[in-house]
Amino acid sequence: MLSVEEALQKILDAVNILDEETVPIMASLGQVLAEDIISDINVPPLDNSAMDGYAVRSPDTKGAGEKTPKILKVIDTVMAGDISKKEVVPGTAVRIMTGAPIPRGADSIVQFEDTDEEKRKKLSADQPVTQVGLFSETRPGQNVRLAGEDIARGKTVFKKGTVIRPAEIGLMASIGYSRVKVIRRPVVAVLSTGNELVEIGHSLPEGKIYDSNAYSIASLVKRYGCIPKILGISRDDEKELVSKLKQAQDADMLLTTGGVSMGDYDMVKDILERDGEMVFWKVRVKPGKPLAFGKIKGKDKNGRARSIPHLGLPGNAASCMVSFEIFVRPALLKMMGKKNLIKPTVEAIMEDSVKNDVGRRIYDRAIIEKRDGHYYARLTGPQGSGILTSMSLANGLVLIPEDSGKVNKGDTVQVLMLDWNEEVNI
Ligand code: AMP
Ligand code: MG
Repeated sequence: MLSVEEALQKILDAVNILDEETVPIMASLGQVLAEDIISDINVPPLDNSAMDGYAVRSPDTKGAGEKTPKILKVIDTVMAGDISKKEVVPGTAVRIMTGAPIPRGADSIVQFEDTDEEKRKKLSADQPVTQVGLFSETRPGQNVRLAGEDIARGKTVFKKGTVIRPAEIGLMASIGYSRVKVIRRPVVAVLSTGNELVEIGHSLPEGKIYDSNAYSIASLVKRYGCIPKILGISRDDEKELVSKLKQAQDADMLLTTGGVSMGDYDMVKDILERDGEMVFWKVRVKPGKPLAFGKIKGKDKNGRARSIPHLGLPGNAASCMVSFEIFVRPALLKMMGKKNLIKPTVEAIMEDSVKNDVGRRIYDRAIIEKRDGHYYARLTGPQGSGILTSMSLANGLVLIPEDSGKVNKGDTVQVLMLDWNEEVNI
């Protein structure tokens, strides 16, 4: 049986980075740039004020202090977005708001707080002040934001391959990009298999269960920036399964759940082997041993034949989610052009003991908390592979090595973090 690493490598080797698309910048969050972003403007475009205050010539401020205010004549007021037509000549100042371009002649800004403007305004019954007293000296450049200090014209702001986050979107907007070329988001078909499954929104006959896998898996697909296409439920019937699989033809990846174990009706792996290409079946992992990976036949937009990676995830509700995190997520990220495919791990001190008598890598669902500078991990309760609440309570997966025999309370373990604290209900 393949190890987790061997299986993951086979999956990664079989998937390719997708083609490019051009999208509005707001649609690009989490995608990877497929072009260099070069600025053809300066940001900010002009030298401008970092403060609300007065634009002055620094030599005019020599000797200014609380007790020795320097009085200047106020010749104009300039707001952000406007340009003053006046020139600041010796003995004059222009009132200026944050972001407004520095008027000609001025080299620095005195903030309102360092002037007697407040007092003068009161005395003049809020009439515009004609003079102002400065309480402090300035040096050239003080409180001036220079043209191009954020981004200079001609600069490569981002290289192809950069992952787009909110700051990148903001920066692209600041240089006037409204659309951007990125690696396309994979479309992922999600099919649930099992005679026992009922679609939500319908009543539940005796002996049946609701299909939850379609929703947990499609949500994971969405969470990691891809586009889920829920194909619904296929009964464990060869004809129905084959016909449902056809609906995955235009997807970039197919995920099925169920039908990969040893039971009489576990025919997903058989059909994959017969009609497609089976790369492997079974991994030395718990939960999720019966994972199947292969390729099914599909067609591209132009009707040309192509093969679609197919992961046959186990049917158990917690298993399929764990398998997704370990095997599917890295593959999708690779297809999206990302480089960091594996979630970070931390070292944590176990607060429970776990036996490993199966000789497989165990990924137990756990609550990870940081206390006194250390991470601690405690299990979320029963770890049955069908117990979905074990996943809901967890913010991490504790790795129990294949050959460990037993991990004791107090031992240090590796934990794959699923969520950091801002996203969990602990
Ligand atoms: P299988 O891998 O098909 O043998 O399924 C293993 C277990 O997972 C069985 O108890 C199934 O009832 C359960 N199961 C399979 N598919 C789903 C699903 N879509 N939603 C919830 N449970 C499922
Ligand atoms: Mg089944």
